[in-house]
Amino acid sequence: MDTNTNTTDTNNINDKVRVRIAPSPSGNLHIGTARTALFNYLFAKKTGGEYVLRIEDTDLDRSSETFKQNIFDSLKALGLNWDEGPDVGGKYGPYKQSERFDIYPKFAQMLIDKGYAYECFCSNEDLDKEHEIALQKKIPYKYSRKCLNLTKEQKDELKAKGIKPSIRFKVESKELVFNDLVKGELKFDTSLIGDFAIMKSNGTPTYNFAVVIDDMLMKITHVIRGEDHISNTPKQILIYEALGAPIPKFGHLGMILAPDRSKLSKRHGATAVSDFIKQGYLTEALLNFVALLGWAPSDGVEIKNVDEIAADFRINEISSSNSIFEYEKLNWMNGQYINKMDISKLTDLAIPFIDMYDLKKYSRPQLEHIIEVTREPITLLAQLENDVKYFFIEPNYTESPEILEILKNENSKKVLEKFLNEVKDYDFGNHEQIHDKLGDLRSYFKETLGLKPKETMWAIRTALTGRTKGADMVATIEILGKDEVIKRLNQALKV
Ligand code: GLU
Repeated sequence: MDTNTNTTDTNNINDKVRVRIAPSPSGNLHIGTARTALFNYLFAKKTGGEYVLRIEDTDLDRSSETFKQNIFDSLKALGLNWDEGPDVGGKYGPYKQSERFDIYPKFAQMLIDKGYAYECFCSNEDLDKEHEIALQKKIPYKYSRKCLNLTKEQKDELKAKGIKPSIRFKVESKELVFNDLVKGELKFDTSLIGDFAIMKSNGTPTYNFAVVIDDMLMKITHVIRGEDHISNTPKQILIYEALGAPIPKFGHLGMILAPDRSKLSKRHGATAVSDFIKQGYLTEALLNFVALLGWAPSDGVEIKNVDEIAADFRINEISSSNSIFEYEKLNWMNGQYINKMDISKLTDLAIPFIDMYDLKKYSRPQLEHIIEVTREPITLLAQLENDVKYFFIEPNYTESPEILEILKNENSKKVLEKFLNEVKDYDFGNHEQIHDKLGDLRSYFKETLGLKPKETMWAIRTALTGRTKGADMVATIEILGKDEVIKRLNQALKV
């Protein structure tokens, strides 16, 4: 390895694009990881490349099967299906690092043999002491290289005592420069990087080592990931160089911050994709929204499906700055998707949010009708629980003084009596007729009692739903059906 400045020359432009998303199963799929997955997916789609899922579970203590399943389910729910991965297999598997533990030591040994790495017998206590001294001297910590020049005898002696070495990469000092696809040219002074561990003393690889070996063996051409990994990139490039392997192109995405500019966390709202889904966000809206965190459509039209985004996607146009996660904008966008979604599909998605009610009360077409007439103002499916309630549960008029006041009003009683008298003869299959008859009722009370049209409607709505606002009145009457309407009018008149 030469010690001068060198700009890393990355992979051959003619290689077929291969990208990967490499989550660690130490938590549910984070919305930020979903965005990284999406950008990889879009890049693969745009370039006719391949998109790989690799599970990075080398840290067995922090990894769990439940989180792994959550990652699978969330990516699938978002439609970010992978071409190769732990479940679907592929040419370069296994795709779970814990199933690749036999691969890493061979490459570590190769680096030792070539003089790029060495065994380190320092204990945690030794290293803690070094850290402490650096802290006292107020200098950045770098490993002392205490074990760099141990002789074979010294190493054998330590091993005979049962001390298992870790393996450290020997970092040469130089200026390392690479062109980041998103951030442009980046320079690093490698003299600031201490010799870092590539294998732990327990025989498992560190993240920086496993990721390079896997990306190399899986023929990954572009590593697109969050900028929180930027400080790892020089270490990884040094390993590629030492291995004599082609170096992928790197693209580091800006971070996603909360509206208050701090790290997005649970106190701001949901952060895991599965939690967003539980709250009633549609996966289409979530995907569309995260695509806009760092990318802008060329025609300025923000509502777009994944195929449209992929067609318009250019990786070098991704913004290098951080993005703000505006929950309010997501809510707005979700509302847009709720309103334009096919009603049958939306009803399927809505059912788990309203299954506390006796859904069997209605036929499927009626249920779809309920969703159709209640979806307009909502931004989250979870809001349906409240908004459809009166279709399933009789109103409790005593819950609100406002409702009681309307129903106790003499004029309201006159409206309800006349409506009750007439509704018995309504044709409930005839939307137009109900519409016209309500119009006649409004005119009648305007002429006779001087009631404003909305006062007449308030009385009826309040009696039928126990609320002053809600779905279209004609539709509400049709859906409730004649018997229920009559029953509720009688109850309201008793107030
Ligand atoms: N396992 C790493 C993470 O979840 C992936 C880093 C990478 O993409 O290289 O952050």
